[in-house]
This record gives sequence, C-alpha cells and structure tokens, in this order.
Amino acid sequence: KKILSDRINRIEVSATMAITAEALKMKAQGIDLADFGAGEPHFATPQHIKDAAITAIEKNFTRYTAVAGVPEVRKAIVDRHAADFGSNYTVEECVFTTGGKLALFNAIQVLVDHGDEVILPVPYWVSFKDIIQYAGGKVVYVQSSENENFRITAKMIEAAITNKTKAIILNTPSNPSGAVVSPEDLEAILRLAHSRGIYVLLDECYVYLTFTGKVVSGGSFTDCKEHIVVLGSLSKTYAMTGWRAGFALGPKTIISAMSKLQSQSTSNTASMVQQASIAALTASQDCVATMRADYITLRDRILEGFKTIPGLTCTVPEGAFYVYPNIKAFLGRGEVKTASDLAAKLLSEAHVVVVPGEAFGTDEHIRLSYAVSADVIDKGVQRIREYLSKL
Ligand code: PLP
Repeated sequence: KKILSDRINRIEVSATMAITAEALKMKAQGIDLADFGAGEPHFATPQHIKDAAITAIEKNFTRYTAVAGVPEVRKAIVDRHAADFGSNYTVEECVFTTGGKLALFNAIQVLVDHGDEVILPVPYWVSFKDIIQYAGGKVVYVQSSENENFRITAKMIEAAITNKTKAIILNTPSNPSGAVVSPEDLEAILRLAHSRGIYVLLDECYVYLTFTGKVVSGGSFTDCKEHIVVLGSLSKTYAMTGWRAGFALGPKTIISAMSKLQSQSTSNTASMVQQASIAALTASQDCVATMRADYITLRDRILEGFKTIPGLTCTVPEGAFYVYPNIKAFLGRGEVKTASDLAAKLLSEAHVVVVPGEAFGTDEHIRLSYAVSADVIDKGVQRIREYLSKL
C-alpha cells in the first residue's frame, strides 16, 4: 500500500523555504551571505507589541480562547480596517488565524471543490498554486506583462473566466513583483466577480506597504462584499513574521466555515499573540509609517545598484519589499541555463541568496527581498555585479 495520500503528493515544499534552509546551512558553516531570500522584515517587532505579549503571559492569559480569536482581537481588526479603508465588517465577519497563510489555506479549503477553477495572476506567490491544488482545484493562470510593470487588469481577468470559475486570487501589492492593481481595475474586477457570482480572494498582506499615494482595500467596496474575502496578516505590517498572526474578513458563511475548519485543526492562535496583535492594531501606527519609509529608501537603493549591472533590467515595484529583475541576458552563459541555475550559482559562488523565478511562475527572473540593511544591499549588489560580469 502507498504511504502518502494523493492530496499531499499534489503539492511541493515551498521553494522559498527550501532556499532558506540551504542558506541556513551555509550560515551555520560560518559563510558570510548577502541574504535576499526570505520574505520578512529585518526590523525587530516594536517594543509595545512585545510588551503586550509579556504582560499577557504574566497575567496568565495562557489558556484556550474562542477558536476564531477573542472578540477584542477581532474587533481590533475590523475597527482598524474600517478606519483605514472605510470597510464595514462585523466581528462575526472576521476570523483570526495562525498567520495570513492559514487564512488563505482555510479560505480555499472551504470554497474550492474538485475541478473548480481558480484564477491566479502570474507571477504569483509560491503558496497560492499548491494551496489550490491541495484542495483539488484547477489553477487557471493569467499572464501579466512585464512591459506594464506586471500590473493585472480587469480585462486580463475577464478573459480567463469560464463557467467553472469559483474564485480569483488577487495579491496586491504583489509578492514577487511589487505590482499594485490600480484602484480602477480593482473596482472593475470586484464588480465583474460580484455580478458573476465569483469569489475574489484578496491577499492584502502587503497593503500597508504600498508606496503609491492612496491605498485601497478590496474591503472598501462594500457593495460587492458578498463575494470578497480579504486575507490579511500582521507579519509584514508590524514585523511580526514569527508570531503567526493573520486574519480573514468576509461573508459570515465563509468565515464560519473557516472557523469550523480551524476548530478541527489549529484551534485558536496563541493567546498571547492575540493580545500582542490587539496592541499592534490599536496603538499609534507610526511604526508602520516609519518602516514603510525605510522600505522605499531601500527599494531605491537596490534599484540604483542594479543600474550598475549591465544586462540586468528591473521594473519599479510599487509596494511590498521585493524586486523582480529580468535576468534573460545571462541565460545560456556558461552553465547557467535557467533562473534556478543562476540562483544556485549566486549562492555557491557569490554567496548571495535569491529565489529563482520558476517558483513564481516565470523563467527569466530572480526575486530579491530588500528588507535587509543598506550594507547588505551594497554588498550583495557588488557580489552579483562581479559574478555576472565574469559569466
Ligand atoms: N501572502 C503573501 C503574498 C505572502 O508573501 C506571505 C508571506 O510571505 C503570506 C501571504 C503569509 O504571511 P504570514 O503567513 O506570515 O501571515
């Protein structure tokens, strides 16, 4: 008899996690890496958030809570969202999850049946594809254009809709490209989906790291609410990746089903993490603005650095903390046939960690996270330049 289920064999280990593991091994050997691999802020979690967790522990707030999170944390989420984006979710329309990834996983599990089509713009964050496939769904890819800054438009989405389309994934700002869906296209996609009875899963885990003027959430379009699920995370906004704090906002039927699934798997997110999240969401948001400003400076620094590398081209990201340069000019040189070859060589020979574009559905790019210090950017760019000049 076979050991593993078909279900588990439909998915792969997250490519970013595989690269991170290899980089960790090299670091343990004492190798100095310029690490642009992991998608996480280099900032420490702000002190007031840490203090709230410590207080919670000291006050013995260490027991099971309601599966969907205590009402206070769900209220903090819906209030923050309403204040920032004009949404009108109730506490019952919110579930607190063990990271944004679980919010996405559970949303897909409760919505997608075998054979349902889910539209996924390319390039995509690694986990979307596997999570859809785990649920038995069929991924329908929509190509964006690098010439248009990888921006997804309503027209592109409309062309991919069939009578089997159950959901559309939109991740804006995007990991890996940093592209932001324009407010006009976002509205058009939401209205189109609403009129066709299709669910839009909006991964907004980088929404506070948008660098272009007015920030819009899908949740702002309250008249389309019935078909919108907003997936959020505190990981990037508040430099809280290790805490595992995320949430979903959406129609009660979907949120209740997600809570039911959670009741048979993770149960509640760690109780002290809920208290830390309340502090994060209700205190002054100055830390978010400070970090956002730093990311813009770091983005500009790495883009300036790339300009000194002949052959490398790069779109200007409008959010998140990734750059997605085109490395086509270097493919076919020496042993480097693919983006994966290049990423492997950059790691072994230049001691630079990047993630190959294949993980995100494109063949001619690499992704670098610039949530690192300015020194790492300078060192890394120099190493990449030297390595590529010898290829
Ligand atoms: N969505 C996107 C697009 C991401 O890039 C990530 C993390 O890298 C997540 C969701 C999940 O974040 P978390 O599970 O830490 O909240």
